[in-house]
Amino acid sequence: MQLQSFGAALTVTGSMHLLTVGERQILIDCGLFQGNDDLEARNREPFPFDVPGLEAVILTHAHLDHVGRLPLLVKLGFRGPVYCTAPTAGLAETVLLDSARLQVDGYRHDLRRARRQGVPDEQVPPPLYEEEDVHRALALLRPHLEFGETTRVAGLKVTPERAGHILGSAYLLIESPEGRLIMSGDLGNRESGLQLDFTPPPHADAVVIETTYANRTHRPWPATLAEFRDALRDSVRQGGKILIPSFAIERTQTILHTIKSLMDAGEVPRIPVFLDSPMAARATHEYFEFGDELIPEVRDALQAGEDPFRPSTLHVVPTSAESQRINRYDGPAIILAGNGMMTGGRIQHHLKHHLWKPSTSLISVSYQSPSSLGGRIVTGADHVRIMGEEIAVKAHVHTIGGFSAHADQDDLLAFLSTTGTPHVWLVHGEPDVMAAFLPVLDARGLKGDLMPDRQAVNLTGPGFPQGLPPGFDAAPTRGAQAEAGE
Ligand SMILES: [Zn+2]
Repeated sequence: MQLQSFGAALTVTGSMHLLTVGERQILIDCGLFQGNDDLEARNREPFPFDVPGLEAVILTHAHLDHVGRLPLLVKLGFRGPVYCTAPTAGLAETVLLDSARLQVDGYRHDLRRARRQGVPDEQVPPPLYEEEDVHRALALLRPHLEFGETTRVAGLKVTPERAGHILGSAYLLIESPEGRLIMSGDLGNRESGLQLDFTPPPHADAVVIETTYANRTHRPWPATLAEFRDALRDSVRQGGKILIPSFAIERTQTILHTIKSLMDAGEVPRIPVFLDSPMAARATHEYFEFGDELIPEVRDALQAGEDPFRPSTLHVVPTSAESQRINRYDGPAIILAGNGMMTGGRIQHHLKHHLWKPSTSLISVSYQSPSSLGGRIVTGADHVRIMGEEIAVKAHVHTIGGFSAHADQDDLLAFLSTTGTPHVWLVHGEPDVMAAFLPVLDARGLKGDLMPDRQAVNLTGPGFPQGLPPGFDAAPTRGAQAEAGE
């Protein structure tokens, strides 16, 4: 049993792991690299494996850095099944269509610029994929994975369990004759304000675990709530716009629910809230459909026919013309727009219009990659380049880390506390963060290693028992679809 990581190895983006057992290969996640030009250039590298020979893909969740290269994989000849949970399928559709649109828009923009510079059209890289490629990829989705139920995929037993990260997110227990492997996907913050906790995992021989926040501890939820409330009150006093860059999935719903709760409790004035993200508005429909997965407070509100994601002052902004008009609205207002790292989307024009004003407040509630625009702003840059223009940063910047949808160090250790003594492979983290986590694992008697980039790792190492793992009844049959009972 071998694993090769072609993304999220020594970095936090582009998750893609190729699992080889004997002659058979499956891919776990097929994410897009995001963050800066160097990383994004990797999206254009050819897939370093036989794409048509791949038997199946399993998606752990619908974030773009876990699903964003799927249409490309299909464009290059993959025709097998793509397994995921039902909410992941719904969210993946929204995420991938948005991704295709961004790429086509980006291409048209680059083309116009190239022409003005006298550069031939052929030198402008085409979009990675377009809407029709997304539809072909969506047609391969098999949204049959249910938490706690085992599915046969390419001769392996795959059991997804609740990861508590975003709606529909799963980690995978993968059992083969060569051992038991857990692929964590992204794991949730156990105090997320929206998601139920991850299910404690069973014993495994190897665990591939995300480490986004393996070097820190999030604030407890009540402290985060108080910090957010204070930042909002402070910002209202500044009198200007309150920009909250937010990812369309999960973070936006958490923030909307939190703002609604604070306003309903009279803790924050009822100022207008603009949701300037059609994608977030679409994604919220999935939260209605799969409300059973959410914390009791939200689930019960949904069952009672209420809308836990709608503060009474909410305006959903459908068109970009209306988005531009918000800038002419006088007085304090909260503007929620994507994307969370501020690297694109409608938040950019709000930043351009407001970041230079001392009355503006920027409340960062998302992970900021150090090299992203958001990363530069929250670490104190006094000028940043936005849409081709140098903009002074005069706004009050609040960084609230506790909204993270990712596990912190305590969460990761809690996750590993029920897995026995597996070999722990670290992925989806900055290298210094992962390096700092190794001695923490060591102190708990766990052998950890950083997953190398692209290099195959033999999971059938000394940590694996000989023969079949307990409960494994061998004789895999061929054909993943047949195995899933289709
Ligand atoms: Zn994620």
